[in-house]
Order: sequence, then C-alpha cells, then structure tokens
Amino acid sequence: MKFAIKSKGDEKSNQIRARIEQYLIEFDLIYDSEEPDLVISVGGDGTFLEAFHTYNHRLRDTAFIGIHTGHLGFYADWVPDEIEKLIIEIAKKPFQVVEYPLLDLTIYPKNGGKVDHFLALNECSVKTAEGSVVLDLSIKDEHFERFRGDGLCISTPSGSTAYNKALGGGIIHPSLESIQVTEIASINNRVFRTIGSPLILPKHHVCKLEPIHDERSFLITVDHITGTYNNVDAIECKVASEKIRFARFRSFPFWKRVHDSFVSDDRT
Ligand code: NAP
Ligand code: MN
Repeated sequence: MKFAIKSKGDEKSNQIRARIEQYLIEFDLIYDSEEPDLVISVGGDGTFLEAFHTYNHRLRDTAFIGIHTGHLGFYADWVPDEIEKLIIEIAKKPFQVVEYPLLDLTIYPKNGGKVDHFLALNECSVKTAEGSVVLDLSIKDEHFERFRGDGLCISTPSGSTAYNKALGGGIIHPSLESIQVTEIASINNRVFRTIGSPLILPKHHVCKLEPIHDERSFLITVDHITGTYNNVDAIECKVASEKIRFARFRSFPFWKRVHDSFVSDDRT
C-alpha cells in the first residue's frame, strides 16, 4: 500500500509526520505523494481540507484520515497519543471505508469563456467586494427568489458544522446526501423578500445562481480557497457524484464529534 502525509507545517505536526512515515515504512508501506492509496493529514481541519484538494482528482483510489495536533477536528479526529495503535491498524489492512457526500460547483462565464468546476468538502460561498450580491436563485430550473444581501453559502453535510453553522444553518448528518443553502445577511423589507430559512436540497436538485448586475465581480470561496470571478453568467451547485472516502479504524459517530466539539468534551 502507498501512502502520503500532509502536515500543517508547525513543529509538532512535522514531528508526528516524521514518526508516522518512519513507522509505516518499517511496516513495508511505500511513501508515494503522487498516487497514494491512503492520505494522512496531520494538523487541523484546515490541513485536512488542503489534503483533500491536493488529491481530489483521485477520490476513487484514495482514502483519507486526519490526526489533530490542536483541538478536536471534524475531519482530524485522531489524537497524537493514538498513533502507534493507528499505525498497527493501517499496516493490518484492508481497512473499512466510510463515504461522505461532496458539493459539485460549476461556474459558467458569459461569452462562452472557460467553465470552472470544483468539488468542495465543506462549502462554497458567493460574495462580492462591491455592494450587495444580487442574484436569481432557481431550484431544478424553477425560479425560487431574487436574493439581495452579503451572499450565500452552499454546504455539504460534513461542512454543515463549519461556516454554515455560523450562519444559522442546521447540522446535517453526512449519511444524508444533500446540500444546504444558507443566507449571509439577506436584505428583507417590504420591497425585497427572501425565504430567510436555510434550504436543504436532495440529490439532483440543482441550485442555480444567476447574477443580475453584469459588471459586478464575485468572491467565490471553495473551502479554504478564494477566487475572484468577473462576467459570471451562472453558478450551479449540486450534490456531487463523487464522494470522499475516510479510512475507518474505530467508531467515532458524527453526533459524538458534534457533542465533543460544541457542547462539552467531558465524558460524563
Ligand atoms: P480557518 O479560518 O482556520 O477555519 C475556521 C474554523 O473552522 C477553524 O477552527 C477550522 O478548524 C474550522 N473548520 C473547518 N472545517 C470544519 C468543519 N467541517 N466542521 C467544523 N469546523 C470546521 O480556515 P481553514 O482552517 O482554512 O478552514 C476553512 C473553513 O473555514 C471554510 O471551509 C469555512 O467552513 C470556515 N469558515 C468559517 C467561518 C465562520 O465560522 N464564520 C467563516 C469563514 C470560513 P481548524 O482550526 O481545525 O482548522
Ligand atoms: Mn484552520
């Protein structure tokens, strides 16, 4: 089996990275950063997002695992103290795999320019540096509303505990193949009206955003990456056909991760 390790880059993460690499090589695994079967992220959830984006072109052949060197993460949910145990489990192979849904995002420019396509593990957000975002939102090709405000966030179930949560979105279990649309400070008064509630869309319910003001440029984030886009004709979001695969060596239920991260980390 071939593996790669992504470290956050701080001293603690680099030390752990070196230890894991040495152990796994002793167990006859091969370090291969080009075509790994297993990617180990050492750091935080942000490090895990980077690992995902480095290898998202080979999701079918790669499984991921996250070790946290700071606070408990949603993707980085192994502690450094468990490394020896984890190494032995990895060396035993084959391992179980758990799959989580992803967001599929396509940005269509006006005038037939280059179409951009992304997969997000957490979310995409659409904002602007100039005034308000004004766009028509449609679902399955039916016009739903004209949105005015700071922007929209479209998240995956596993991303629902990240930016989405801060925007008042619901926490969605990753076994539900869905995306969630949340508003970022919508303008609501007698003239302008939006739904106000987060919308949870199932598979195949494509959500399309069509900007109204041609001249505006948009800030579009995909997880930790931000890009500026001019001449956006439409942005399409849907549940991706691809999934992320996690290597699973022990049970750590999603609701327990939510509890331990946001409610309390004591076990009483
Ligand atoms: P960051 O600014 O370090 O991330 C913000 C926080 O979100 C960090 O504590 C990060 O954990 C945590 N996080 C990432 N994914 C999560 C998840 N699925 N569930 C719960 N918490 C999660 O930037 P970053 O580390 O590059 O992460 C990018 C993410 O930040 C974006 O995808 C977005 O979800 C989130 N974000 C949140 C807000 C907000 O809450 N107001 C605003 C902008 C962006 P670590 O410390 O372990 O990395
Ligand atoms: Mn971070």
